[in-house]
Amino acid sequence: MVESKNKLRDLAAIVGEEHVIFKEEKLYHYATDHSSRKSTLPLCVVRPSCTDEVSSIVKFCNLNNLGITVRAGGSGVSGGSVSNGQDIILSVERLNKIIDIDTINRYAIAEAGVVTQELQEALLEKNVCFPQNISSASMSCIGGNVAISSGSPKSLKYGTTKNYVLNLEVVLPDGQIIWTGKNVEKNATGYNLTQLFVGSEGTLGIITKVVLKVVPVKKELLMMVPFETSEKLFDFTKAFFSSGFTASSLEFLDQNGYDLVLEYLIENNRFPKQHGGVLWIEFESQTDEENLRKAEQLYDLIVKYNDQEPLIAQSASEIEALWKYRKKIGEAAINFAEFKDLDVVVPRDNIDEMFKAINAICTSLQLQFIVVGHIGNGNFHINIFKNKEDNMWEETISECTMKIFKKTIELGGEISGEHGVGTYNRPFFKYFTADVNIQIMSEIKKIFDPKNLLNGSNLFTDKALKK
Ligand SMILES: Cc1cc2nc3c(=O)[nH]c(=O)nc-3n(C[C@H](O)[C@H](O)[C@H](O)COP(=O)(O)OP(=O)(O)OC[C@H]3O[C@@H](n4cnc5c(N)ncnc54)[C@H](O)[C@@H]3O)c2cc1C
Repeated sequence: MVESKNKLRDLAAIVGEEHVIFKEEKLYHYATDHSSRKSTLPLCVVRPSCTDEVSSIVKFCNLNNLGITVRAGGSGVSGGSVSNGQDIILSVERLNKIIDIDTINRYAIAEAGVVTQELQEALLEKNVCFPQNISSASMSCIGGNVAISSGSPKSLKYGTTKNYVLNLEVVLPDGQIIWTGKNVEKNATGYNLTQLFVGSEGTLGIITKVVLKVVPVKKELLMMVPFETSEKLFDFTKAFFSSGFTASSLEFLDQNGYDLVLEYLIENNRFPKQHGGVLWIEFESQTDEENLRKAEQLYDLIVKYNDQEPLIAQSASEIEALWKYRKKIGEAAINFAEFKDLDVVVPRDNIDEMFKAINAICTSLQLQFIVVGHIGNGNFHINIFKNKEDNMWEETISECTMKIFKKTIELGGEISGEHGVGTYNRPFFKYFTADVNIQIMSEIKKIFDPKNLLNGSNLFTDKALKK
């Protein structure tokens, strides 16, 4: 170990001494993400400032058979950017330049370590946006969003990050630098290497630059609608789609979640009566009048299912004030207790059955939980809180996860809609994925990373749960 630590000091020749971190107190900053409070220290952290430095680091690691875990903002909730204790962390935080915003071609080129919010603010100045209003925008980076294919409330209209990636600069595990495509909106030339890297969670290569499609900014209108019972809320959601309505966001918070966020914000219920859950419905149009017309049309459907007046916001400050209760739920949960965040997705016609199953499973295991989600996409986040007295937490949460995932698969869904496999979901991913699919993915991994250097224990060689 001493010898390999000494060897690691050679990395300073690439990035400069101050950008190779060995000090334990500094390593802690990079030792966990938002998936758990457990820290695993890497051998060191290295912070390159450009693609060539990334390439040199990777060549050095390849030569010395040293593993690398890639890290951007560290806001992930599946453990993907956490070291396995035997590798180094390559942090892209200094790759933080916005290279171009092109409003004719409607794309932005940014280095992987640009913080999402900073890119959004720069885009807004040119009246365009990357239409993913991810709740972790102040922490997450563009490279991390692409590596996970993160989603957001606007995924109902715009899909997830993957729908906005035109081209990527990637450093391969042998140090080669490639571009995966061209900066064009259409491309039918060969296999789609760009999409292979999107969502690959740092296992195939290190993304250094991203070319993101951007869209013009539109006017918004937001409705916040309480429902007397969750049954009525889900019935309304199904009727919304079957009646042909569209919106840019359709978001959900259950009653437990709403109570928790009010407690966190030290506020009272925004509605006169108690309710069984809240929906946020956002419209986007060229004009405020068009949004109002859409809201009026929807109002007729809303009153068939609910008995309280919705709140409606059109100015930016009012909209922010209503979104707050949905967007602050992550912070409220972090503040409340240690928790595990599951991210299941099911076809929309099964949302009510999934919600009932989540409630039944968590209640039978005597677990405190909240359910929040991108319900328009059938995507639920279940925050399951650790009971301080539970000495068997790992076993309890694993049992709960297994039961929820089994139900998800039974209902035609997937175990992650936007948070990725990471390290937490790996054994479940292998359990619930067809052997032939695992085999194909494993072969792809071998093509790019035959020495299995990138991102800790490999997705495909880790032990799976017994089927
Ligand atoms: C309060 C809160 C709110 C959140 N809200 C949302 C939300 O609305 N929607 C959503 O989808 N998620 C959300 N998340 C989860 C998280 O923010 C997203 O997954 C985000 O995209 C991760 O980005 P990051 O830069 O923090 O990546 P990291 O956590 O640093 O890394 C994530 C994964 O990507 C890999 N990676 C990072 N950079 C690169 C790179 N340059 N090249 C290759 N691989 C790389 C890492 O190895 C890891 O596997 C939230 C998290 C929190 C804590």
